Amino acid sequence: MTPPSREPASPAADGVAFPSAATTVVGVMGYPVAHSLSPLLHNTAFAAMGLDWVSVGFPVPEGAAAGALTGMRALGLAGLSVTMPHKTTVAALVDRCSPVAVSLGAVNCVIRQDGALVGDNTDGEGFVASLRRGAGFEPDGARCLVVGAGGAARAVVLALAESGAAEVVVVNRHPGRAEAAAALAGRVGRVGGPEEAAGAALVVNATPVGMAGTASAGDVPLVPATSIGPGQVAADLVYHPLRTEWLVSADANGATVVSGLGMLVHQAAAQLRSWTGQDPPVGAMWQAATRMV
Ligand code: NAP
Repeated sequence: MTPPSREPASPAADGVAFPSAATTVVGVMGYPVAHSLSPLLHNTAFAAMGLDWVSVGFPVPEGAAAGALTGMRALGLAGLSVTMPHKTTVAALVDRCSPVAVSLGAVNCVIRQDGALVGDNTDGEGFVASLRRGAGFEPDGARCLVVGAGGAARAVVLALAESGAAEVVVVNRHPGRAEAAAALAGRVGRVGGPEEAAGAALVVNATPVGMAGTASAGDVPLVPATSIGPGQVAADLVYHPLRTEWLVSADANGATVVSGLGMLVHQAAAQLRSWTGQDPPVGAMWQAATRMV
């Protein structure tokens, strides 16, 4: 009997490199994780940067984060992206946290530094980068309104305040959570109402409203798109669909619009920068991501 033919070992004869025993491994841990675009973004960047690195998904159920970080230490993973439901748990499991991760009490990225695991949070940095790159919008001195008060909203509120926003108004269904989110912006943060959107230079949807395939998909946005127009920027954190109904309406009303895909790409770029010490190819990552949403 003829033995089955085998795939060539790394590197392949045609010059395409496969992961080998020397490949550096990073990944994304979450649950579920199979839908995550992070490995695609990371691997697109590694290929363009010519790095022998690979990124994979690690499905880690709720309650299993401590074991996953022990595994990260033992296996020598160079970095981990962290997503739902582990962002707050991991903040308490790493050896130390960046100032941003301490303020938010949440980690979306673990970096291996001299054997220690450092927790960081790049969501806010990614959001502000997406505003600058996607709309030429500079938060410094701007009046901003953020709808939502969950983990993503908190990162956005903190980043806007740290970027010099003149005011960060938080609008949310549950006022208690709005107070806690607004407090992250210090003296420029406060809780407000949807009617204040007309006076804001930037209005952000940081809720899942409009996200395909969720219970909230068809819910009515707290700030109607009709109240946002010329001279204003409407930014949605949702990226599936790429342009939500809210963004389409705000665009039709004359506002400049920014989709959540930019934040996804730029928060991943910030993680790659920390892991590799090099600037990742944001344009190539953006193109890869737009083909998938
Ligand atoms: P979260 O922690 O669960 O918070 C959700 C927030 O949305 C809460 O403030 C909640 O209000 C509010 N909300 C939920 N359903 C609502 C509804 N039907 N009407 C009005 N408000 C509603 O979620 P998260 O992690 O912050 O994520 C929020 C969204 O951002 C998700 O769609 C997520 O996919 C997206 N996101 C995008 C990126 C990116 O890179 N683009 C990164 C992170 C998150 P209450 O407090 O009143 O319950």
